[in-house]
Amino acid sequence: MSLKTFFGGIHPKYAKELTAESPVEILSAPETVVVPMLQHIGAPAVPTVKKGDEVLAGQVIGEATQPVSAPVHSPVSGKVVAVTDRPHVNGRSVLSVVIENDGENKWVELEPHPDPVQLDRSVILDKIRAAGIVGMGGAGFPTAVKLRPPKDAAIDVLLINGSECEPYLTSDHRLMLESAADVILGAKLLAKACGAKKIVIGVEDNKRDAVAELKKHAGAIEIVLLDTKYPQGGEKQLIKAVTGREVPSNGLPFQAGVVVQNVATAAAVAQAVRDGKPLVERIVTVTGSVINEPRNFLVPIGTPLHNLIEAAGGFTEEPGKVLVGGPMMGMAQHSLDAPVVKTVNGILALSKGEAVVPEPLPCIKCARCVDVCPVYLLPLRLEAFGMHEMWDEAKEYGAMDCIECGCCTYICPSKRPLLHYIRVAKNQIVAMSRKQGN
Ligand code: SF4
Ligand code: SF4
Repeated sequence: MSLKTFFGGIHPKYAKELTAESPVEILSAPETVVVPMLQHIGAPAVPTVKKGDEVLAGQVIGEATQPVSAPVHSPVSGKVVAVTDRPHVNGRSVLSVVIENDGENKWVELEPHPDPVQLDRSVILDKIRAAGIVGMGGAGFPTAVKLRPPKDAAIDVLLINGSECEPYLTSDHRLMLESAADVILGAKLLAKACGAKKIVIGVEDNKRDAVAELKKHAGAIEIVLLDTKYPQGGEKQLIKAVTGREVPSNGLPFQAGVVVQNVATAAAVAQAVRDGKPLVERIVTVTGSVINEPRNFLVPIGTPLHNLIEAAGGFTEEPGKVLVGGPMMGMAQHSLDAPVVKTVNGILALSKGEAVVPEPLPCIKCARCVDVCPVYLLPLRLEAFGMHEMWDEAKEYGAMDCIECGCCTYICPSKRPLLHYIRVAKNQIVAMSRKQGN
């Protein structure tokens, strides 16, 4: 059977064997949780509680007051001890609600529904919005907003992303193996919410056991095997591989008639609409060469990163770098006090040797960066434009289409910091455009 794929991409060391066989373990909530009001793309939620308030698990503690935002719920019952800025995995300080866990796990009253697929589209959308669900594959776009593209967009395909192409991470893999029925139910609800008639789930062929599990529940849902290649899970790459459609330059998936949602988001939607449960926990892979016992955990949102690392046996030696996410697109962490948020799918700890950034050498014009770029850019030219502050030229050569996958930097034999300078150029183009009022 031929595997579907896209142009370009790379085959990095996957290292998924560290945790692929590790069943998801439930990690109980710590004594104190720190719940940021910003866990999504868009406007931060606005706190609805203050110091001294008693809260229940599942209670709204931050409300969405802007169209692109998402509410935030308490993962525990207990007492609010502070509403203050705290370290966030995005590297900044973010307004957070700090809650002392009373250990009683008292919940708000949930409203389950025995046959959620029968609900009206608008009711499903309302429940998804109220549950605070956002894209859990890492992007964090509020799901209810993504399910409502412009009126003239004809959505015919819902594409569920089960590719998990980032090396090391296995949280989605374990979710598909252990909660396949939830993924399938969530996919049906998402399809109803966005009006798609066809549902396809794309999974890389290094997870055939997950495909077998999904097929047991899938019914008419199509499951497509994809080549194991990074960045197979990029939205545009996935759409091209599965449907053959191209999303236009600077465009969004709805312009190709497709809505893409991650498998973890689908499972969260099932729990929200069927069980009435808001998004207050998620699966996180804790892995890397300097983690004692790499594992997968189901953890309450707001659990500090160091709690997960301790639960995985701690470090075998002082790490060179700790990332949230995978090695290709993950974010380096400066404080392990930062908590798990809705978009954290993994914690990766690398040794000092693995974390060394090599000295760049001159470009030898080998074009390997061009061959791997999945969006047909010329990374070597874009790097030069970024380095020499040639912002107009960077824009003309498509810098804004760069999906920041890092394939060019990875493959470059001269170890040039290509993505770094492309990011510099992108930031400047955005700043220029803001100045011009576009
Ligand atoms: S891969 Fe590196 S050395 Fe080769 S053309 Fe691109 S920037 Fe130059
Ligand atoms: S230019 Fe951007 S999209 Fe192309 S390979 Fe480099 S990081 Fe990826």
